[in-house]
Amino acid sequence: MARGLRLPITELLKDFDAPVTAFDCGQLCAPLNNGKPVCCESEGVIPVLYHQEFVELQGRSDLWQAFKPTCKSEQVMADELPDYQLAHCTRSCFDERANRSLNCRSFPFLPYFDHDGVIVGLVYDYESAEGKCPLVDLPHTVTREYIRQAVGFWCAVCRIDEEEGDFYRDESKRLRRRFSRKNEDVPVLVEEGLAHYPTLRSDWRSLLAAGQSPPFTPYDRS
Ligand code: SF4
Repeated sequence: MARGLRLPITELLKDFDAPVTAFDCGQLCAPLNNGKPVCCESEGVIPVLYHQEFVELQGRSDLWQAFKPTCKSEQVMADELPDYQLAHCTRSCFDERANRSLNCRSFPFLPYFDHDGVIVGLVYDYESAEGKCPLVDLPHTVTREYIRQAVGFWCAVCRIDEEEGDFYRDESKRLRRRFSRKNEDVPVLVEEGLAHYPTLRSDWRSLLAAGQSPPFTPYDRS
C-alpha cells in the first residue's frame, strides 16, 4: 500500500543538480555504447521516480512518460513499489539537465551509512555500475560540489522516509560484508578525497576511541 509520502520534491530537484564531474562523463562511456551514455540506457533498467517527482517533471516537459509493464515480472515490480512511478525518458536530457530524475542524478552512487548509522559520504552502486560506468575507477574525478549535494540529498530523503533510510543502512551493511570478504576497507567518497572505512565494528570503535578518523586519500577535487 502506498505510504502517502510527502517529500519536498521541488527543493530536492533544485538542490541536487551539480554534474558528477567537471567534464561530460558521457564522453567516456558513450563511444563504447553505440554513442549513448550507459546510464541513459533504459534497457534492463527501469528508472524509478517518486510519484510527486513524476508529476512535477511531467509538468515541466514531456521528457518522462509512465512505464507500462509488458510482462508479469514488470507488473510485479510496479505492484511492489506503490510509492513510486516506473518511468522511461523519451529522449536525451542533454539540453534539459534540470528535468533529470533524482534517480539519474544519484547514479552511480549510494549513500554510505557508517556503523553508527550516519551518512558520511558516497559509495559506488557496484551492482548497477561496476563494469558499466567508467567513474567506478575514477573516484578522484567526482566534484566536491556533487558530493556535497548528493550527501545533502540523501540526508534529507532518509530523514523523511524512514523505510528508505533503513534500506540504504542495510545496503551499507551488505557493502561492509562484501569488502570484508576481500579483506579491504570500504572506499567512501567524501568532499576532501577517499576515506577508507573499516568493515568491522570493533575496528570502527577502536578508531573512535583513539580519536582518529578513517585512513584517508586526499584528492584535489575541482
Ligand atoms: S555517470 Fe557513468 S554511465 Fe553515466 S554518463 Fe557518466 S560515465 Fe557514463
